[in-house]
Amino acid sequence: MAAGVSTPASRPVPGLPPGVVAGLAAIVGADSVLAGSRRLLAYECDGNTVFAGQPEAVVLPHDREEAERVIRFLDEHDVPWLPRGSGTGLSGGAVAERGGVIVDLVRLRRVVRVDPESQRAWVEPGVTNLALTEAVAPCGLFYAPDPSSQVACSIGGNVAENSGGSHCLKYGVTTNHVLGLEVVTARGERLRLGGAAPDLPGYDLTGFFVGSEGTLGVATEAVVRLVRRPQAVRTVLALFPSPDEASQTVSDVIAAGILPAAMEMMDRLAMEGVELGPYRVGYPPESGAVLLVEVDGLEAGLDEQAERIAAVCRRNGVQDVRVARTAEERNLWWQNRKTAFGAMGNLSPSYYVQDGVIPRSRLPRVLRRVEAIGREFGLRIANVFHAGDGNLHPLILFDDRLPGQRERAVRAGSEILRACVEEGGSITGEHGVGIEKREEMRLMYSDEELRFQAELRRVWDPKGLANPGKVLPV
Ligand SMILES: Cc1cc2nc3c(=O)[nH]c(=O)nc-3n(C[C@H](O)[C@H](O)[C@H](O)COP(=O)(O)OP(=O)(O)OC[C@H]3O[C@@H](n4cnc5c(N)ncnc54)[C@H](O)[C@@H]3O)c2cc1C
Repeated sequence: MAAGVSTPASRPVPGLPPGVVAGLAAIVGADSVLAGSRRLLAYECDGNTVFAGQPEAVVLPHDREEAERVIRFLDEHDVPWLPRGSGTGLSGGAVAERGGVIVDLVRLRRVVRVDPESQRAWVEPGVTNLALTEAVAPCGLFYAPDPSSQVACSIGGNVAENSGGSHCLKYGVTTNHVLGLEVVTARGERLRLGGAAPDLPGYDLTGFFVGSEGTLGVATEAVVRLVRRPQAVRTVLALFPSPDEASQTVSDVIAAGILPAAMEMMDRLAMEGVELGPYRVGYPPESGAVLLVEVDGLEAGLDEQAERIAAVCRRNGVQDVRVARTAEERNLWWQNRKTAFGAMGNLSPSYYVQDGVIPRSRLPRVLRRVEAIGREFGLRIANVFHAGDGNLHPLILFDDRLPGQRERAVRAGSEILRACVEEGGSITGEHGVGIEKREEMRLMYSDEELRFQAELRRVWDPKGLANPGKVLPV
């Protein structure tokens, strides 16, 4: 038996039809099929540990041909399956809550081609977001959607979740940067959707696939748009007494005709968390909110834009406003912000991150509702926002060791999403629906609209084998 195989390929795995593990092993090799509870522990959840479930097996194809054969095989044997990238998702999308097989795409990690002239790259799904930007940096280009998890998350996962990031305010989210896809549908057909040229005729199937959370099939290659690196950036850090003044500043900056590349905000509790971590900025205790604003473009005119932003901050009662003097200072500010989720570990044994969207102007009002929900459920809630996009991430702190706390955190999260919808927003900005928000889909869509979505899904996956139970209410 090859090293690393916990279950001999010939032995049946409970829950899977006989011969499935052996059949998968015949495609990818026995050491690329994992089975047995201990081996599968790492696949029990994604970045959101609230939702868990073990697959019966995990298969790791080496290339696209193998991935395609694996999916055809699973379809022929009526085995439920789901794709997985780096497992950093935050809505339970890559969790096998009903068992079945996980198709792990981590080994498909080639940047196949870069064309600097047309500013396009062809990439396999296992390439990490940051690795793509690093690969095209020598050409003076970058891949714009930049989730805070970019060091780990995969392009396939980004496509499936239509991921966003701090710089998406100016540049747009994943769907604005994916021009084409090669996919293997859940029926095992290999299709090319869209392509390098813009505005192809026919239905926008690329757009339909982006954000489909592994329910239609597997993306095996993406054709992405690359962006020229801006000549220069200016980063402004502003401290305010409370999120109210910071929120007003966000609206006023945009109303002044400035389009920053990024506008990020943290409230007092989030600031306390990050200040206990390795990237300390030194926020004073009297500050209730921090705003990080970045403008980029041609060097000429950027100082003036930064000064205009500082002036708006001053009109809104800023306590302190500075422009980063060095690249190191800018990096520190960004690391401080980008590690905010993990920094909750400095404040609480467990946390649960939510992801709602609201119209920017409603930020102060929604924050008061979030605070009230925290009081109602007896839980502390820190807030981190892609403020320019109205995308808020309440971080609900709880202690998983105490009975009932996890359930209370989940219920508080659901109430926050309800508040977002009531204020004219949405239940997800970038983390997707997954397991977590499928019931909340009813807050957004009528039964008829949900049925229509289910019918479209069935065209790609008539047997309902791909990532079953995700996205649409059960
Ligand atoms: C600390 C932290 C910060 C984060 N910050 C952000 C942020 O700023 N913005 C943001 O948008 N998200 C953020 N996320 C969430 C997460 O990183 C993104 O959703 C990311 O795109 C998931 O990529 P992944 O490779 O980890 O996918 P996984 O978690 O492995 O999978 C996510 C979904 O994609 C499907 N999938 C994976 N690969 C494929 C494929 N090739 N074809 C079809 N379906 C596939 C899976 O079935 C699953 O439904 C953050 C997560 C963490 C832990």
